[in-house]
Amino acid sequence: MVGMEQAIAGCRPAIAAILDKALTGGEVSATEGELLLTVAGNELAALMAVADHLRFEKPGDRVTYVVNRNINFTNVCVKRCGFCAFSRGHRAGEGYFLPTEEVVRRAREAWELGATEVCVQAGLPPRMKGSLYIDLCRAIKEEAPEIHIHGFSPEEVKYGSGLCGRSVEYYLAALRDAGVGSLPGTSAEILDDRIRNIISPGRISTAEWIHVITSAHRLGIPTSSTILYGHIESAGDIARHISLLRDIQKQTGGFTEFVPLSFIHAEAPMYRKGFVPGIRAGATEDEVLRMYAVARVMLHGVIDHVQASWVKQGVPMARRCLGSGADDLGGTLLNESISTAAGAAHGHFLRPAEMRHIIRSAGRVPVQRSTTYKLLREFEREPDAPEPLDAVASEERFGSYASLISSDEFRFVRKAP
Ligand code: SF4
Repeated sequence: MVGMEQAIAGCRPAIAAILDKALTGGEVSATEGELLLTVAGNELAALMAVADHLRFEKPGDRVTYVVNRNINFTNVCVKRCGFCAFSRGHRAGEGYFLPTEEVVRRAREAWELGATEVCVQAGLPPRMKGSLYIDLCRAIKEEAPEIHIHGFSPEEVKYGSGLCGRSVEYYLAALRDAGVGSLPGTSAEILDDRIRNIISPGRISTAEWIHVITSAHRLGIPTSSTILYGHIESAGDIARHISLLRDIQKQTGGFTEFVPLSFIHAEAPMYRKGFVPGIRAGATEDEVLRMYAVARVMLHGVIDHVQASWVKQGVPMARRCLGSGADDLGGTLLNESISTAAGAAHGHFLRPAEMRHIIRSAGRVPVQRSTTYKLLREFEREPDAPEPLDAVASEERFGSYASLISSDEFRFVRKAP
């Protein structure tokens, strides 16, 4: 605390005043958050120290992770989001669509290997049966009744409900009844239509995203919350986005966590083809650390958990984020393919033992959690015995499904990720 006070004393008065306010329980406004998002050097160090202190106050010294598997069941999509290198057009040779039996097989296999969650998200395929998401949930639950389905972004909920000609509320209730346990709060990007219309024209609007999310919360379906940063957004855009999420959480209490996602530029169409003026090549290391610290400072007492995304930033940077306000390392993400398609080079999968090693190397206590942050197993600081997933030497066996293809909608010309 003394070191932190000295660090704050070295800041400009305006920055010191905001950090003092945060430490004494005051709410940091969007305008103040915007200012914090510009600091560097010793002021960034002070900001990180304050964020780390608040994180230690609550939720504490544990770092959680979830053992999960991604099932991105199709990359065929009717949209053309500028940041997305994952999707393929209907006729593209690289399009794939996993049959329901393969989705179910992956879920059952994940459960048998110790996973507690499947994260089900995909492109928006044309001519999709509107009830597909609901049908998938029922099929998964029949074979793996205890696995938590974290599935279907607001964009997908809007798509499915539209195809069914039903309201968002009706569709969400049907998903819940079919077994969805929570929604990923993706498709948020920056919740500002001016920016959305540049980076992803035709995407779900800010008002629609809020409508799906708050409807889910009202129906008892928790969601995560996210931001995509490091492209064309300004510090003010980030701060207002976080402030908006905070306002929603005060009304509904339905967010489980906040997950900052840094833009992976390498394969993203809007970067590669240069059609978005002023596009940046992702967030710098300082920008990543500022994002985490400001998120913790602005969300303190409202959203408890801030997740470091190893798949977007890589393990060393995710570990540094644990010292800048983050308290969660996300999922093991067996079969992650969306970030990898965009050019992220951090792999498809972290074994649970690797998660614990990273957490211990940051001087913190590893805890396996459920999707909704129920603490399942607290580990000692020392290394422990391997679990079934730790013995997985290669994910090759998880990627091969060529013999199972049976859909008549799409031609499968390539092994799915
Ligand atoms: S982000 Fe989602 S909706 Fe947008 S193009 Fe990619 S898969 Fe389609």
